[in-house]
Amino acid sequence: MKRILIIQTGGTIAMAIREKTGGQVSERQSNGLQKIAPILSEIAQIESRELFFKDSSDIQPGDWVAIARCIEENYGQFDGFVVLHGTDTMAYTASALSFCLYNLSKPVILTGSQVPLSVIRSDAARNLINAVQMASLAFNEVAVCFSDKIFRGNRTTKMSIGDFTAFQSPNFPPLAEIGLDINIKHTVSPAVQPLQCEAVFSEDILVMRLFPGMKPSAYIPMLDSGIRAVIISAYGSGNFPITDSYSLIPFLEACNKRNIFMVMASQALHDSVNLETYASGRIARELGVISARDMTMEAAITKMMHLLARYTNPYEIRDLYNRSIAGECAP
Ligand code: ASP
Repeated sequence: MKRILIIQTGGTIAMAIREKTGGQVSERQSNGLQKIAPILSEIAQIESRELFFKDSSDIQPGDWVAIARCIEENYGQFDGFVVLHGTDTMAYTASALSFCLYNLSKPVILTGSQVPLSVIRSDAARNLINAVQMASLAFNEVAVCFSDKIFRGNRTTKMSIGDFTAFQSPNFPPLAEIGLDINIKHTVSPAVQPLQCEAVFSEDILVMRLFPGMKPSAYIPMLDSGIRAVIISAYGSGNFPITDSYSLIPFLEACNKRNIFMVMASQALHDSVNLETYASGRIARELGVISARDMTMEAAITKMMHLLARYTNPYEIRDLYNRSIAGECAP
């Protein structure tokens, strides 16, 4: 029987319901996992560790490091890992783990739920059982298991606050679908080299979402606060305003002057940024802007956070950002 480690980090899946209001509270639900343990033990030999207990909106890069280290320390003893996590920032954690766990040859499956495990009509049991099942199969990557689907972690984004189908991977098909049978559609071969955990992330990042009426000049003073990269959530294929006081060009020039990396991502979830299509994109290219291509915002941000912390050579950072390093964008 496969050995699976369940790493608990909190989230709704582990929360209790407040009796009077019906609202979820961040109190840990102590016996939730125990109740379902007999079912899980029919699938695999399970051990669990409570790493911390947080609403995932409080999860920070230091917590990604703790999860990555827990996987590294237990890598030899287990065949797969299930990370129980809140849904709000699950896609960020999945992306971050995918970048810092090099040569992964075992499944790391993140899951959570929209309704706590202790509630009768919760989606938690189904997600957890599916995640343990998938963690005992040959997935050599970080994945998100939710509502009968397995997605590549760094392609995943939270799409719904209320639906049980909370996640999608807009630019990559699900790795597997769970119905009457488990239909595995995509696997990667195990790495030849041993696992290498490089759990480092820079927090010197600025993320800007464009909106009509935005005055980019207001953001220029922020560039002198130690920022090393700006991820811009632009329109469509990577477009932005280029006229009057709304023009983004002076802001990009200010970044360029300070050797700050600039990444152009898109507010559109499907398809890829293309900085050749329109005039603004071509200006961006000339100013050294990097395209996020078909990456999710979560992947575009965490990839830069990781590369900035791991490498010092700007050419290397730029080169690696432009390539798929963990299946996060088209090759
Ligand atoms: N706020 C919760 C969290 O992300 C939501 C959830 O788990 O669904 O921890």
